[in-house]
Amino acid sequence: MSFCKALIFIYLSISKNQKFAFEPRPSPLPSKENAPDGAAYPSFAAPMQEAPLIATPAPFHALMGDLAQETCLALDTEASSFHRFHERIGLIQLSNRKDTWLLDPMALTEVEGLGAILGSDRMETVIHDADFDLRLLKRMYGFRVRNIFDTLIAAELVNEPELGLASLMKKYFNIQLDKRFQKADWCKRPLTRDMLNYAAMDTRNLIALRDELAAQLKAKGRMDWAKEEFGLLTEVPFDAKEDDTPGFLRMKGAKTLRPKELAVLKELHEWRTGVASKLDRAAFMVLGNDVLLELAKSPMQSAAELGKVKGVGPSAMEKYAPDILDAMQRGMEMPKEQWPRVEKPKRYPRDPELEERVKRLKTARDKMALAHELRPGIIAANQMLMDIARAKPHDAVELAQVPGLRRYQVQEFGPALLAAL
Ligand SMILES: [Zn+2]
Repeated sequence: MSFCKALIFIYLSISKNQKFAFEPRPSPLPSKENAPDGAAYPSFAAPMQEAPLIATPAPFHALMGDLAQETCLALDTEASSFHRFHERIGLIQLSNRKDTWLLDPMALTEVEGLGAILGSDRMETVIHDADFDLRLLKRMYGFRVRNIFDTLIAAELVNEPELGLASLMKKYFNIQLDKRFQKADWCKRPLTRDMLNYAAMDTRNLIALRDELAAQLKAKGRMDWAKEEFGLLTEVPFDAKEDDTPGFLRMKGAKTLRPKELAVLKELHEWRTGVASKLDRAAFMVLGNDVLLELAKSPMQSAAELGKVKGVGPSAMEKYAPDILDAMQRGMEMPKEQWPRVEKPKRYPRDPELEERVKRLKTARDKMALAHELRPGIIAANQMLMDIARAKPHDAVELAQVPGLRRYQVQEFGPALLAAL
């Protein structure tokens, strides 16, 4: 892991006996007087200390007891999604302003205590790009994170040119994040010290980054915008409507297939899901999406032909050739009335007046984007402009009723949008 020189210096001056210590050594926590908004703490990158891995109940409960005193925690999760079929969380990283802890949720039988901390009214949980983590925490443990600070959204609202965590860490703290383990299998054991050190970097300086971005949000008068976005984000995992589109139709490119081809795709997809689930391997590792689509478009009946298809390697042939051929056969034999059909998106008749309104809205939006130094999508995405043009609101009250539009968007940009209509 490459750090800037100053950090290496600080690191070297930390006692060496901290290396390879896996038991938690929570350092003294900040006193309550100092804790609330972090203003009393310097906002610079924390020096590197080896983060302990917590894998047994006693240290876990001790840590949770300590962390209950905190008001701000950075969190990240490493999930199995890339390698595995079954979703699991392989590692949870937590940092306060000083220390970092790594939780092994696969070794710990329960992590309920963490849910209570993240769900507390006084806790702010800092996550970079929280959407996925929040959904995962809900699905895996039923956790509801009460207050969130998403550094990705904050970066977007202060118009950072690059929104990735690595870019932001480099820019603010001159820290180079290691990308070696980005696609590692975090559910495999044992995790190496290298992997753990890598994972610790994801939250180690996240609160410091939060502070930098929060200061800019305040300076620009955009903290309320951020709070509105954060509030909506914590609700997302608890929204009732789940996507019930079958898996094979959610594959990229599936919707361009004809019903007859979709029948084959459906069978192939079902076969692949069965294998992936049994092996607990990511579906694409069994057979790639592009291969599935290709086979659906031109199914065959002989193993010799199947072996020639790009992406069907010798090992797939050896293990699955008869099953793949069977699946294609079932698809080809599916009676016409059972062919899957894709619902075509709702079509509106052309409306030149509407198109003119959208055009005017876009011009107004792009002008504001320049003036406020914001991405156009922050003011209103194209689809939103379309919805506004169709709703034709007469005033701010009506504008606010357009689904999905934020309060701050109505307040800040509403007058100009209404004028453009
Ligand atoms: Zn991570």
